[in-house]
Amino acid sequence: MVASLNWPVAWPVDATLVAFLCVLGGNVASFLNVVAHRAPRGISVVRGGSACPACGSPVRWHDNVPVFGWILLGGRCRDCGSPIAWRYPVVEAVGMLIGAVVAGELFAGGRTWPPGRFGTGRIGADVLLMQPDWPLLLVCLAHAALLFTVLAWALFETDDARVQPRWFLGACLGLGALSVIGGGPTTPGGWPAMREAALGAGVAGLVGLAVGRRTLRQALVLAGLVLGWQGLAGAALLMLLVAGGRAGLGLARGGPFVLRLSCADLLGALAVQVLVWRWWPAIGLVAWCMLRGDHEGG
Ligand SMILES: [Zn+2]
Repeated sequence: MVASLNWPVAWPVDATLVAFLCVLGGNVASFLNVVAHRAPRGISVVRGGSACPACGSPVRWHDNVPVFGWILLGGRCRDCGSPIAWRYPVVEAVGMLIGAVVAGELFAGGRTWPPGRFGTGRIGADVLLMQPDWPLLLVCLAHAALLFTVLAWALFETDDARVQPRWFLGACLGLGALSVIGGGPTTPGGWPAMREAALGAGVAGLVGLAVGRRTLRQALVLAGLVLGWQGLAGAALLMLLVAGGRAGLGLARGGPFVLRLSCADLLGALAVQVLVWRWWPAIGLVAWCMLRGDHEGG
């Protein structure tokens, strides 16, 4: 029997931990902003704190708070008054959302994933604090690492910066090791996880063949390594739906039908996928019944 707090106490604990993970996510994204700015220029991402690109003044810690720092400064450098690109707070807000998504799957005890390995433990942050579920934490850590890596890839892609082969290799090794040690939603760590990761990367390679762009192909392989082929298939379908919808809108406005996929699309699809994974069979069944109904009605 796992001890848990009564709800009047549990509620604030949950809220505090979700807020903590959101702020943490915002800080990671803030760091990725720096990486995306410096790495293609060959500047060290570790040495030297954040500085204003215009005047070089160091950014004070209280101005570096994700999103809110930018709002409080009115989008301008405190020292020279030059505008700070709106991309910075937007990327930080995306990082906070990633924090919220991971908090969601973590505190739901894996109930958003296909049943099998998780989903029988109790829900809530207090339970995890008092009796940590290490396998669950490892899977969530792998998902967080994947989402932030794809966010970084999306920034490189937006800047038309090339992802160096050694960065890609490093990401493959790091994420691959994490998912093989921790396993997946239905696969325990070790050999089964290794087979799952290899299959996922293989399917990702096949999906990637249909996608012309190199950075997205690489991001797909990373996603396959962490989520396995089923998780990747769901995310790829979501990504196609979003891009297809956008292309349809373009067509409706009188433009050409352009199906253009990006790492940002994949990031959104992955974030949704880890939260709706369990319900894919139900979604598929509903879609099939609707199509059948249409067919019989027409
Ligand atoms: Zn400045």
